[in-house]
Amino acid sequence: MSHPTNSVSKPNKTLPSTIDSKSALPNEPRKRGALIWHNILFMTITPVLAAILVPMYLMQNGWSWGLVAFFAIAYIINNMSITCGYHRYFAHRSYDAHPFIEFLYIIVSAGAFQGSLLQWCTDHRRHHREVDTDGDPYTINKGFWYAHLFWMFRRDQHPEARNYAKDLAKNKIIMFQHNYYVWLASFMGFIVPGIVGYFCGFGFWGGVIIGGLLRIVLTQHSTFLINSLAHTFGRQTYTDKHTARDSFICAVLTFGEGYHNFHHTFQADYRNGTRWYHWDPTKWWIKGLSLVGLASRLKQAQKEEILKARLAMEERLMLAKGASAERVTQLKLQIVEAQKKLKALRESYKTARRDLAAKGLHFKQAARVEIRMAEIEFKAAYRQWRTFRRAFKHKAA
Ligand SMILES: [Zn+2]
Ligand SMILES: [Zn+2]
Repeated sequence: MSHPTNSVSKPNKTLPSTIDSKSALPNEPRKRGALIWHNILFMTITPVLAAILVPMYLMQNGWSWGLVAFFAIAYIINNMSITCGYHRYFAHRSYDAHPFIEFLYIIVSAGAFQGSLLQWCTDHRRHHREVDTDGDPYTINKGFWYAHLFWMFRRDQHPEARNYAKDLAKNKIIMFQHNYYVWLASFMGFIVPGIVGYFCGFGFWGGVIIGGLLRIVLTQHSTFLINSLAHTFGRQTYTDKHTARDSFICAVLTFGEGYHNFHHTFQADYRNGTRWYHWDPTKWWIKGLSLVGLASRLKQAQKEEILKARLAMEERLMLAKGASAERVTQLKLQIVEAQKKLKALRESYKTARRDLAAKGLHFKQAARVEIRMAEIEFKAAYRQWRTFRRAFKHKAA
């Protein structure tokens, strides 16, 4: 995922540096490659300040579980406003949200100091569209640290940048956030934690240092890991046509965004971790919102498409390692057929559900047994595939 070309934009009396004053979209002609000093200073000074001020505060005031909880809540809220808001809601439109939730996302996420929503989404949509090319603002091909941090230190000029977030530029609250970004970010990022810290008994400066400074540094790098670590470390589960990778460790560090190979392959899906046990708090929050009526139209890739991509990738790897093409095709066909049968049974059961009462308990039970049998058949076919694949897993290509 992404972040800010301008982690700290100037307030907009004379529009921020990345904004065209006529179109109010990020693409103002600018000197190619010029250093963005406010980003460089912010990104280098804040970690140093945190490393000095946090221990000083703790030495003077001690720590308590209350302080840990205060930090954790601030960290979780702010990080989730980026993953659920900036990323999956605004950049990908993977679900619809109640206007109040949308408003909260726009305001709270400003405090993460990851640049305005408009700029962040522009960069991120470019990243998806042009991944691993020179058009990708944080391409991993320029190195781990470039993708993680250094890309934000220089301006880049992209001829079509203004086209990437036209829909978002129509939203007045988003434009307000963009135009007054520094003020809003400073208020949400430092002043609000200071006030909350004061009323929680940690003092205003305790709130600023622990709930503001420390939280901002860690939240930023949690997001930055998606561009660096998630394009370097992990499995290419669904495709090797881009560098994005799936990793549980990365998912834990980034509130579920670490299943990045899946995300780049099925970017409209509101989930990044598709299985129930995949660590993806962002997906759980979105699902939770939908259960209480605050989110709707959650987009999900078709199960068949996900399986198809996975099998195709595994097939390529096995064939490269010398597996018998005939055997691979036969096993794959078994899975595809079993899945097709299972899907058809589930759909016919669903359509017939309204008439089930009339048809009686016997029909209902019989239909369920048939579905259960098809599930077992599908799982057996998949198990066979996995056993066969295991033999080639550690073999060199
Ligand atoms: Zn994305
Ligand atoms: Zn990516």
